[in-house]
Amino acid sequence: MASIRIPAETLRVQEELDLLVIGGGSAGVTAAVTGARLGLRTGLVEEMPGLGGMSTGGAVGTYCGFYKKGPGATLVPTVGGLPLEIADSLLARGHAIGPIPLHDTAVLPYVPMGVQHLLEELVRREPRLRVRLHSRLTHVLVDEGLVRGVAVDTRGERIGLRARVYVDASGDAVLSRLAGVETLREGTLQYPSMMFTMQNVDVARAIGAIRSLPGLLESHFVSDQLPRRSGNLIPTGRPGEVLVALSRVEFEGRPVDAAVEQELSFAELEGRAQAVRLAEFVRREIPGFADAFLSHTASRLGVRETRKIAGEYVLREDDVLGARDFADGIGRCAWPIERHVAGGHTSWSFLEPGASYAIPFRCLVPRGVDNLLVAGRCLSADSAAFASARVIGPCMLAGQAVAVAAQQICTDDVATSRVDVERLRATLSGWGVPL
Ligand SMILES: Cc1cc2nc3c(=O)[nH]c(=O)nc-3n(C[C@H](O)[C@H](O)[C@H](O)COP(=O)(O)OP(=O)(O)OC[C@H]3O[C@@H](n4cnc5c(N)ncnc54)[C@H](O)[C@@H]3O)c2cc1C
Repeated sequence: MASIRIPAETLRVQEELDLLVIGGGSAGVTAAVTGARLGLRTGLVEEMPGLGGMSTGGAVGTYCGFYKKGPGATLVPTVGGLPLEIADSLLARGHAIGPIPLHDTAVLPYVPMGVQHLLEELVRREPRLRVRLHSRLTHVLVDEGLVRGVAVDTRGERIGLRARVYVDASGDAVLSRLAGVETLREGTLQYPSMMFTMQNVDVARAIGAIRSLPGLLESHFVSDQLPRRSGNLIPTGRPGEVLVALSRVEFEGRPVDAAVEQELSFAELEGRAQAVRLAEFVRREIPGFADAFLSHTASRLGVRETRKIAGEYVLREDDVLGARDFADGIGRCAWPIERHVAGGHTSWSFLEPGASYAIPFRCLVPRGVDNLLVAGRCLSADSAAFASARVIGPCMLAGQAVAVAAQQICTDDVATSRVDVERLRATLSGWGVPL
């Protein structure tokens, strides 16, 4: 095979930072804002034009993993600190509705643009935080167990950035993989989906139809070649607007591996084609949609799972379903194990009513690199535990926790594996994070 040779480059180090976060999704923004609020000179690098990752670009539509069932019919938060501040701000602005009970937890439907505006306001308020958009991490320099610097392609040039602590919030473990960290890849990946928005919906009638949606989808699954047997219609709270979760994209009869360019390119195009076809189905078959139109597809494919790190601890299915506590827990989650699997099915395994499990700090600590942490959907978990911990509440809790850890690493000059977890938890607890 022919090859081309790229000449070696020497990059100017544009910034020396305390904390550098790669990926501006839910986890990365929470990490960067928390770090800056703690006084760290913080950088945030995001390859897309805006912040929010899957929550905005993927338009996933609801915040899950923020609440659980409390005494009686009440719902109580499982998150605290910045994640709860974000949820409450969205509610106060009318950009989220709920929480709406779902079995023994709850969802918070939101307006994706509202989330993006809020996250961008939060970062713009922080003088110690420098955000780089349209900027892509490409190389990582590791020496003697430490990340010594990274290369980032910006619009104009490739630059070097250096920090005391690095956080991989890329969703796909990009930074960790470039740093040589081992990743877990057991079993099959979850299927991705292309979310889309319908407008001019008769929302009252559409809400009435949600209950009969599973039966409708099941009966049309074969005849209409639907990609899913179950799905969701998510009113955003804005007049006539509903987010539709009915797509699911496969590649050669299996889940797309979105870490592979060829498969991701195929899936982006296939996902949008599916949205056009599914919007017609929705208009024809679901009450309230007859006069609706497909206003837009999400700006990127909704990717549930690609790569996860092998960390100091691997969260397991029985930890989740057994509502296990951990001495190094940095937050709690009550979201069920939700897997998007073959045959158009979604499988659910619920925790006991009112139960929640702790997310150990060690799941955010990659092995072998002493100044690297991860947050969000590349945490260390088996595929079942991941199917719970991947939702936005725990992603934000992890982002918040790694920033607190980063402050300690900077002040105490310790390795990530030597963080004083009791102090970390005391800070989080002081912010009202249920532990
Ligand atoms: C279709 C779908 C529906 C879902 N539904 C829900 C739901 O209803 N509720 C819920 O809570 N969760 C839901 N989830 C899960 C949830 O959305 C994600 O797991 C969560 O948003 C992940 O957040 P994150 O910050 O870890 O990653 P992401 O949101 O993926 O953010 C990672 C960021 O890193 C950036 N990045 C990647 N590589 C680089 C690089 N080399 N350089 C610079 N930047 C880079 C990406 O552009 C991205 O912005 C759903 C997921 C999907 C796909």
